[in-house]
Formats: sequence, structure tokens, C-alpha cells
Amino acid sequence: MSGPEPLQDEKRVRRITELLWDEYGEGSDHERTRLQRDPLDSLIKTILSQNTSDVNSDRAFESLKESFPTWEEALEAPEEALADSIRAGGLANIKAPRIQSLLRSIKAAHGALHLEKLHDMPPDEARDYLEGFKGVGRKTAACVLLFALQRPVFPVDTHCLRIGRRLRLIPEDSTADSAHEAFDAIVPDECKLKLHVTMVRHGRARCRPSDPDCEGCTVRRLCAYPEID
Ligand code: SF4
Repeated sequence: MSGPEPLQDEKRVRRITELLWDEYGEGSDHERTRLQRDPLDSLIKTILSQNTSDVNSDRAFESLKESFPTWEEALEAPEEALADSIRAGGLANIKAPRIQSLLRSIKAAHGALHLEKLHDMPPDEARDYLEGFKGVGRKTAACVLLFALQRPVFPVDTHCLRIGRRLRLIPEDSTADSAHEAFDAIVPDECKLKLHVTMVRHGRARCRPSDPDCEGCTVRRLCAYPEID
């Protein structure tokens, strides 16, 4: 493999975003339904998406809303009934108590089950607020901010972390937490959504953890793999 193209940081990010967007095109139905969703719906949906596919988490969310149309009903439901409603998303016995605990905390903090106040907060404040709830980490908070509130933040999942290192967008020794700061700093605001969704798709389709399919990869000339893995 020839060496990566020596582009400056912002130019490099813009070029990578453009190439990946051209390759993967418009977002999927799953991605579109995540946009401008109610922030509390988005938060619960993000929890359901942990360790499962988009299709399964979509099914679990639909089934949850069908069984318990309001968050009040989901909070008051027996834990087992809530778990039954989200079985399609996997880890139901872990996610159900996590969801109810989160709903309980939000109700205690607000007196109501919604997160509308996030709309009025600057991104840093909204992120700190969300991360203040037990079980809400950096990535989950960033997903709510990016998808539900259209704030310019970059959620870093395992695909973004791996590909970001290989493309030398973030330091090789980045952790998931430090990578959030690095991506937020380096990715222009208007590229954050596009780059996040296409990196996830690229990670699933081609840039796998081991044995990535580099032949014909659209960003190959900008990549440092296998030097950086
Ligand atoms: S598929 Fe290969 S060339 Fe493309 S980004 Fe991943 S490691 Fe780099």
C-alpha cells in the first residue's frame, strides 16, 4: 500500500467525509428516524441500540411504545413486562431496569417525564446534564445531542474509534472518551452528522476490526492501516 496522502487536518476530514458520503450515499431509514426525535425517545432508543443491530433496536423500540405508549406507563410497568416488550433488542433483562431507573431519575429531577429543557441548553451544558444521569455515558449523550437536537457533536462508537485511528484523525492511543474531544475539535460542524453515520456504515461494511476489506476502499489513499491498527 502506498503512503497516505499528506493533507492538512481540516482538509483531510472534509475529504474523508466527502468520499465516505459518496460511497454510502443517503442515510438509512433507521438513521432518518433518529433525526429530530423527541429527546427522551432518543435517549431510550440509544440505550436500546447498545450491543444490537439497528433493525433489532428499531423493533424493540416500536414494541416498547406499542406496549407502553407513554413513558409514565413504562415507568410504572412491572420490570418483567417491560423486559418482555424489548426482547427483540437483546439484553432485555439488563436494559429494562436501566430504562426504568433512568425514567425514575428524570422524573425525580424534573417532576415530569420529558427532556424538553435540553432544547434551550448550549451543547456542553446539555451533555453534562445528560451525563449526570446514571447509565448515560459520553456516547449516549452525544447521540441524543446530534440526532434529536441537531447539535454539532460527534458520537464515538467502536467503528468511529477504530477508523479514526486508522485514518489518523485522532491519536493512535485515543480512548473512547478522549476521542470524543478529538473528533469534536477536528471535524467541522457541518460534517459531524455525515461523517459519524458513514463511519459506522464503513465499519460494518468494510473497515472491520480484523481483516478489513481495503481493496477498493474509497479512503484507502488517506489511510495508515496496517501501520496503525
Ligand atoms: S478499509 Fe482498509 S483502507 Fe479503508 S479505512 Fe479501513 S483500514 Fe483503511
